[in-house]
Amino acid sequence: MIDHRRLGRELDLFVSDPLAGAGLPIWLPAGAAARHAVEEYVRELERRAGYRHVYSPPLGKRQLFEISGHLDYFADDMFPPLRLSADDEFVLRPALCPHHALVYRARGRSYRELPLRIAELGGMYRAERSGVLGGLSRVRAISLNDAHNFCSLEQVGAEVAAILGLIREAHAALGVRPAGFRLSLRGPEQRYVGDDAQWSRAEELLREALAGVEYAEAPGDAAFYGPKIDIQIVDAAGRESTLSTVQLDFDKPAKFDLWYTDADGARRRPVLVHRSLVGSMERLFAYLIEVHQGAFPAWYAPVQLVVLPVDEGQAEAADRFAADALAAGLRAEVDRAGSLGARVRGAARRRVPYVAVIGPREAADGRVSLRLRDGRGLDPMPAGDALGLVARVVAARSADLLGAG
Ligand SMILES: [Zn+2]
Repeated sequence: MIDHRRLGRELDLFVSDPLAGAGLPIWLPAGAAARHAVEEYVRELERRAGYRHVYSPPLGKRQLFEISGHLDYFADDMFPPLRLSADDEFVLRPALCPHHALVYRARGRSYRELPLRIAELGGMYRAERSGVLGGLSRVRAISLNDAHNFCSLEQVGAEVAAILGLIREAHAALGVRPAGFRLSLRGPEQRYVGDDAQWSRAEELLREALAGVEYAEAPGDAAFYGPKIDIQIVDAAGRESTLSTVQLDFDKPAKFDLWYTDADGARRRPVLVHRSLVGSMERLFAYLIEVHQGAFPAWYAPVQLVVLPVDEGQAEAADRFAADALAAGLRAEVDRAGSLGARVRGAARRRVPYVAVIGPREAADGRVSLRLRDGRGLDPMPAGDALGLVARVVAARSADLLGAG
């Protein structure tokens, strides 16, 4: 069976070392290169959609999480506070919202700034029990693609619709195939903040945003502060989990006393939309490794191009071609150790999308022979054309290695 933990080992993507601790995987260079490409893509997608990125620390004063309600409603999922002295305690944050509320509050806000979209790919922690941890899919240190969109009540519908559009775009680029949409509502068992009228209004707004989308209702799966739309994925073992999410929150703006000055001069409270386009980098990659069986689309493949000189006579041409590829922004390597057949098989084992073979004839007239990971081979072509082809496919984030479709 396909298992991201086995592929992660074979492809040197990440390692789980008991000395580091369960649920605290370490990303190796190949995994980090792929993740870096995905992070860059998501940041750029958000930037173009009007998001403003911030950095905030993964821990904060205890009071910050008392105000947010996390210590009241979410303590079971958090690590115990870190105590420096009796009145100086810190909490490893279980969510980024409290910090982003402080970003909003850093100065007065006007209606002209709304929706204000504060984004961060930030660290947070969950005290998961060791029995449920596995590879990247359930971890204790989480790197979340997160954002908090502060808007007026009238803007909520359009904002949620725009977020769902971004989620679809990101899923298409990454090769995510959602298993379904879920509207997560209050249930009888849990504790929730906020009043009934606010919850009903929030549920109504989310139902409106889902008009035309097929979804299931999940009573009892709401966050403690509001209902949400969850986009589910299913892993190779058939386990379902949430990847992307859009959550409405009337509560935190009140808890943090957030305001904006409206057009008529009145002070009004914004609505907070928590959203993640692609979830945590850990869960996303656990899924992507399995769904692509380690053969990522070229744009986030750890190594995009391996250059193979047939023998030492083409070493210089191979180095030059690889240097040009690096200069063009590609992740390229030269492999000259062992027989050509063994090196071709090695690149296939690593799921490298493009192999450029340079023999004596190619070296003499500045050409390379490209072989694609899917078995297709191209006639020798000028080195510049080969680089152009790979760079075009990468820039277009195409799933096809020749950029078709
Ligand atoms: Zn949040």
